[in-house]
Amino acid sequence: MNLHEYQGKNLLKSYGVAIQEGIVAHNVDEAVEAFKTLQKDYNSEFCVIKAQIHAGGRGKGGGVKLAKNEAEVKEHAGNIIGMMLKTPQTPGGLDGEGKLVRKVLVAEDVYAPDFDACKEYYISVLMDRGRKCNVIIYSTEGGMDIEEVAEKTPELVHKEYIDPTLGLQGFQLRKIAFNLGLSGQAFKEMTKFISNLYKAFLGSDASMFEINPCLKTGDDRIVAVDCKVDLDDNALYRHKDLAELRDTDEEDPTEVEAKSYGLSYVNLDGNVGCMVNGAGLAMATMDIIKLSGGEPANFLDVGGTADAARVEQAFRIILRDPNVKAILINIFGGIVRCDRVANGVVDAYKNMGDAITVPIIVRLQGTNADIAKTIIDESGLEVHSAIQLQEAADLVAKVVA
Ligand code: GDP
Ligand code: MN
Repeated sequence: MNLHEYQGKNLLKSYGVAIQEGIVAHNVDEAVEAFKTLQKDYNSEFCVIKAQIHAGGRGKGGGVKLAKNEAEVKEHAGNIIGMMLKTPQTPGGLDGEGKLVRKVLVAEDVYAPDFDACKEYYISVLMDRGRKCNVIIYSTEGGMDIEEVAEKTPELVHKEYIDPTLGLQGFQLRKIAFNLGLSGQAFKEMTKFISNLYKAFLGSDASMFEINPCLKTGDDRIVAVDCKVDLDDNALYRHKDLAELRDTDEEDPTEVEAKSYGLSYVNLDGNVGCMVNGAGLAMATMDIIKLSGGEPANFLDVGGTADAARVEQAFRIILRDPNVKAILINIFGGIVRCDRVANGVVDAYKNMGDAITVPIIVRLQGTNADIAKTIIDESGLEVHSAIQLQEAADLVAKVVA
C-alpha cells in the first residue's frame, strides 16, 4: 500500500526523522491559512505547494511550485488543486490523461535562505530478495531520476546491505555519511537521519522508503524533502493506524471494488478477460492466452469458492473494461467441484441477461469435469466449453482474431 507524501512524512517524523514540515490543504483558502501558519511556526518566508497524488516526478509535471507570497500561494494552489497532473509515473505517462489532484501539501521552504549552499541526496531503503536482506541505496546525485543516474553513472549509486541478525551497525552509518562526502555537523546529522529512517522502515513493516531529495540545508541540517512510502499489505494487520491511511481515491476503482468482494483483480491492457481460481493457474492462463495470440485484459483470481454470486461479480468486473472481446474461464476443480462451478456460470449468465456481450469460453478441469461440460453444452447459452487448456486458448484466439 502506498502512502501520500504527507502521510509518509508524518510516519518518518514519529520516528525522529527530520522532515520538511507542511500542512495539507484541500482548497485555496486552506492553502493560504497553511502558508500563514508555516510563516509563524517555522519562520518560513516562502513555501512550496506540492500536489498529493500517488506518483513521483510531480515537479516535472508542474505539481510542485515555490510560492513567495500570498498571491503566489493562491495562484499555484488554485492551479494545482483540481488539475489532471501528468508525470512520467501517472497512467500513460506525460502524454496520458494524468491523475486528479484533490489536495496539496503546503510545505516550508527548506532551501532558504541560502539555496546555493543546499545539497540534494538520494536515499532509499528496501528489501533485496536475492540477498535476503534489507539494503540502503544512496547517492550524491539526489533530486533527479535515480534510474537515470544508475544507468549513466552507476559508480555514483552505493548500496549498503544490512545483516538481518546484526541490524544496521554504527560503522555502516558512518560509511554512508562518509561516501556522501559529509563532514562535521552534517555527518553526524546524516548518521542520525539514516538510523531513525531504518527504525521507521522496520517499525512500519515497509517494503520501500525512498527519500529523494534528502537535503543538506545551508545550516547543515539533514531533512527529508520528499518521501515515497510503500507498506507491506501482508503486515498491515499489525498496523491498524497505518491501514487507515489507505486512500482509495488513488487506486483503480475496479480493483478496489474487486478487493471488497475478495477477488484479486489487476487490470491490464489486453482484450481477453480471464477468470481463474488460484494465482499460479491465473499466471499460466495469461501465458497461454499470449502464446495463442491474444493479450490478457486482466489478472483475476476468484479464489476457492467459485459459486454463482462470485462468478457474477467477477463477470461484472471483467466486463467493465471496454477492451474485453472474450472471456476465458479457467477453473481447476479440486476442492470446488466443476459441476458446481458450471452451474454457477450458467446461473450468473442467466442473471446478467444482456450484460454479457462477448463470447465466453469455459474450461473446467478436475472433479466432475465431464458433468460440468455437459451442463455448459446443454445450457443453450452462448458459452463454449473445453476440457483441454490448449483447446480453450485456441477458441479464444479464434474469437479475438
Ligand atoms: P517529485 O517531483 O514528485 O519527486 O517531488 P519532490 O518533492 O521531490 O519535489 C521536486 C523538486 O522540487 C525537488 O527536487 C526540489 O528541487 C524542489 N523543491 C522541493 N521542496 C522545495 C523547497 O522547499 N524549496 C525549493 N526552493 N525547492 C523545493
Ligand atoms: Mn522527489
